[in-house]
Amino acid sequence: MTMTETAEGIVPDAAPPAIYRLAGVTRTYTQKGRVVKALAGVDLTIETGDFVTIQGPTGGGKSTLLQLLGALDRPSSGAVRLGHVDIATASNRELSRIRAHEIGFVFQGFNLIPTLTAHENVDMALEPLGLAKGERTARATEALTHVGLADRADHRPGELSGGQQQRVAIARAIVKRPRVLLADEPTGNLDESMRDEILEVLQALNEEGLTLIVVTHDSAVARRARRRLRLDRGTVRDITR
Ligand code: ADP
Ligand code: MG
Repeated sequence: MTMTETAEGIVPDAAPPAIYRLAGVTRTYTQKGRVVKALAGVDLTIETGDFVTIQGPTGGGKSTLLQLLGALDRPSSGAVRLGHVDIATASNRELSRIRAHEIGFVFQGFNLIPTLTAHENVDMALEPLGLAKGERTARATEALTHVGLADRADHRPGELSGGQQQRVAIARAIVKRPRVLLADEPTGNLDESMRDEILEVLQALNEEGLTLIVVTHDSAVARRARRRLRLDRGTVRDITR
């Protein structure tokens, strides 16, 4: 806890409100007439500025949960509150605004556009924000500098290593200055040294105050987290020691 000196003496700072509050969240899918409970009643609070990893077996519900946190999907029942907005009941227009402004997403497969340069890939994420061209260019350059790739701005993804491509994807995710970065197996396609390169970037972003939620199979990634969750058969358990 941090403390502040005031006229009343030294008092603890008010904790910033939690970024996410989930209550009774289920998500069911119908597969060939059979109902699958991908999430079977999740209650979870995630604090602003935390670094949380989500581990667990394939099919456990990790990607389903991340999609709800990213306002890409709605729960079948329950509440998914991001700040004051409940993703379950918000309008589609509000969900698009949240995705454009508040959420950065990073995927295992980088998902860069192969015909565009690194700078153009990053710049694209700013399209929905309606910024002036000069401001967009400056912010894209700043984001690439932030991930240590200023000197690769004019390269296309095919001319970059896997680790460099993932750093471009992280730059694309942070360029809009989101409240939270969600990553689904961000190091799943990378060898150990590239994995460490991505971990350094993620950890530095968290130290600057960005909330990180990372789905991972890799215990080396989970060891860096402040809070570790396990998601198995649609149920979340806190496994932080
Ligand atoms: P994980 O990411 O942990 O591997 P998922 O969230 O992808 O798990 O999947 C959880 C369960 O939900 C699995 O049984 C999966 O088959 C099912 N599922 C996920 N997405 C869909 C979908 N779009 N349609 C039908 N079933 C799905
Ligand atoms: Mg998955």
